[in-house]
Amino acid sequence: MGTDLNESPKREVSLVLNKYEGVIKRYREFLPEIDDKHIITILEGNTPLIKARNLGKIINPDIEIYFKYEGLNPTGSFKDRGMTMAISKAVSEGSKAVICASTGNTSASASAYAARAGMKSFVLIPEGKIAAGKLSQALVHGAVVMQIQGNFDDALSITREIAKDYDVALVNSVNPFRLEGQKTASFEIVDELGAAPDYHILPVGNAGNITAYWKGYREYHDAGKIKSLPKMLGFQAEGAAPIVLNHIVKEPHTVATAIRIGNPASWQKAVAARDESGGLIESISDEDILKAYALLAANEGIFCEPASAISFAGLIKLNGRGFFKKGDVCVLTLTGHGLKDPQNAIKVSKEPIVVPCDKNSVLKAMGLK
Ligand SMILES: *Cc1c(COP(=O)(O)O)cnc(C)c1O
Repeated sequence: MGTDLNESPKREVSLVLNKYEGVIKRYREFLPEIDDKHIITILEGNTPLIKARNLGKIINPDIEIYFKYEGLNPTGSFKDRGMTMAISKAVSEGSKAVICASTGNTSASASAYAARAGMKSFVLIPEGKIAAGKLSQALVHGAVVMQIQGNFDDALSITREIAKDYDVALVNSVNPFRLEGQKTASFEIVDELGAAPDYHILPVGNAGNITAYWKGYREYHDAGKIKSLPKMLGFQAEGAAPIVLNHIVKEPHTVATAIRIGNPASWQKAVAARDESGGLIESISDEDILKAYALLAANEGIFCEPASAISFAGLIKLNGRGFFKKGDVCVLTLTGHGLKDPQNAIKVSKEPIVVPCDKNSVLKAMGLK
């Protein structure tokens, strides 16, 4: 061997300099002030921007496709970026408890960050329509989990009323600190690409994320860090597409439970992001969502939630009508990890093969005999 690790002090220094401390410290100059002593972080953010290796060739070799894989946040979704801000802010204000309504990931994130802060958390979720992984997270982090006999929109309006009258901090994305934290995903993308993409594609549920991304891009633009802005392309599930239909959907339904929302809290802001950027918001069928979900897993090794896969389903849909031109750079947010919702993965996949316990049978099953 002969190399003495002690002979390379440079390496040690750079490790110290690169120590990652979460989105608040990394992007402090663009965020509302929070005292160091109030920061609650589980080192969210800093998620990979993964270039498509195989799907580009299949879908359209003339465009560049990148996946911002937000499933690799501490609780498995982008919600952690906003939650570090919302919970830190609640700590700085002396709150002892937080409350949220959730289709799943907000409750997973809120309960984890509340646990780290030593706060109590209360979550309201729609009965029966939440993925098992997300429910398990809220429970294991010690939240008081209430299954409301209604949908997300009902749960959110009850939550808002309680937060108004009682001493519990509301950490849904109507809390402006959530969106402040979430906008850091745009910063990371630009810092990585060195420019804004031509298109940013993402799911739209309560519409907080499209609002936050657009805010992030605009702030980087105002700060002179990028010369152009991306067009924001948002997608809703066909059975839960209030913005596309331009009216509230009373009984939203879709396999993509994270975006099963009929009356988005940030509706007008999402419309503004769409129009100011020259983008669009369209809808996708559950069938096409699941096709994109399976394609991503089988061709890129990326396992995301059905709601996340709508970004890719949206790209496929637009590409099919000749939307993109040569050289276009598209960034797709994959909002949450596939392990949140393993039931859907099993449903779209082949069943495991049952094989007798001997080598020959295994070789036969492998097609080698
Ligand atoms: C919350 C969530 C969304 C929707 O984001 P909005 O900000 O509500 O539009 C999409 N996908 C996943 C996995 C989510 O957790």
